[in-house]
Amino acid sequence: MLYKRSSQLFAEAEKVIPGGVNSPVRAFKAVGGTPIFVKSAKGAYLYDEDGNRLIDYINSWGPMILGHAYEPVVQAVIEKAKLGTSFGMPTELETQIAALAVSMVPNIDKIRFVNSGTEACMSAVRLARGFTKKDKIIKFAGCYHGHSDSFLIQAGSGAITFGSPNSPGVTAGTAKDTLLATYNDLENVATLIEANKNEIACIIVEPVAGNMGCIPPVAGFLEGLRQMCTDNEILLIFDEVMTGFRLAAGGVQELLNVNADIVCFGKVIGGGLPVGAFAAREEIMNYLAPLGPVYQAGTLSGNPLAMAAGLTMLQSLNNDRAVFKSLAEKTAYLHAGMDKVLKANKVDFTINRIGSMISVHFDANPVTDFKSAAKGDNENFKKFFHGLLNEGIYIAPSAYESWFLTDALSYEDLDITIKAVDKVSKTF
Ligand SMILES: *Cc1c(COP(=O)(O)O)cnc(C)c1O
Repeated sequence: MLYKRSSQLFAEAEKVIPGGVNSPVRAFKAVGGTPIFVKSAKGAYLYDEDGNRLIDYINSWGPMILGHAYEPVVQAVIEKAKLGTSFGMPTELETQIAALAVSMVPNIDKIRFVNSGTEACMSAVRLARGFTKKDKIIKFAGCYHGHSDSFLIQAGSGAITFGSPNSPGVTAGTAKDTLLATYNDLENVATLIEANKNEIACIIVEPVAGNMGCIPPVAGFLEGLRQMCTDNEILLIFDEVMTGFRLAAGGVQELLNVNADIVCFGKVIGGGLPVGAFAAREEIMNYLAPLGPVYQAGTLSGNPLAMAAGLTMLQSLNNDRAVFKSLAEKTAYLHAGMDKVLKANKVDFTINRIGSMISVHFDANPVTDFKSAAKGDNENFKKFFHGLLNEGIYIAPSAYESWFLTDALSYEDLDITIKAVDKVSKTF
């Protein structure tokens, strides 16, 4: 495939935008080459500036769960835009999406909308600290919770891909309040809690990790965290920015039947517009300004265009819950197909999958935490990435990312993908 125009556009972008991109994960630094510039997208396909069509397994990193340019969302945004794009005053729409979200997600009474997953996680931690009157937090190596200071300690995909696990600019003072634990290792968490008795405000976790590839929790891990939090008056924060409204209508809380104290959302909840949210039971949420002492605000929070897109997306998912089953079946089909051809081609690999999240790791051992995820063969991944791209298939340009399937994918698309995986893995 030709990427002439994309390369030219990237050269222009590099002059005026650091690295040519507005988010580092979009760069091709880890795989070589230059990023693809998108012109448009519809359903399961991206159309780039050179006229190539790509089957998309990123889907804007999750939001386009029902496909690109999903008609009801597009219509809702157009209609809202005609009525004004921002007021900085309350609208009925905000209550409608809040009520729907609260009805779909277990264990929450109130929700506040923000503009990104980063904001949601940052605000959730501030709320947890204010509510518990404690300072320290526990996060897991390889989990990503956005780019706010407290979280940029071994923060998964983007940060790992670019070789800066701990970002300069985060002060030692901030870093010392973030305790780092190993994913899927309860003993490690217990040790940290014991060593910091009565100092830990919250444990924040991706209940299914998606920023070091897809890593589901091992049996008992989330339940163990829940118990430790309850026993030690620590709030459990599920960062469901990736998993919320994707793995089930009620996210991982519903799928795996474990209750969190605070839940963070992003990605799908905005239907492709910039939206994040955090939610909890009433007692906790009432700690937020203007009711309570913990301050949190946003000029464009609850923006009508964003709320119209999000509400329409949630309504679609709520009205057709079979979509989660359909997505999981398509992902299982892709898994089985790739498994077969990779085995036939004698590749060392592990495929992790849950619901509509899946990742291929080029290492034969189980991938259960950041350390095991980091063992994958990056040379094979580069060949895999560029090989698939050449066959018209777009996966994330990093070995540390999950794939996010869209229900717009047909079984024919999946067969094309499996065939491409077969062809490409023969060249390893
Ligand atoms: C994407 C992501 C975030 C950050 O969301 P942004 O909207 O990019 O700020 C936070 N947590 C998880 C689990 C994510 O996948």
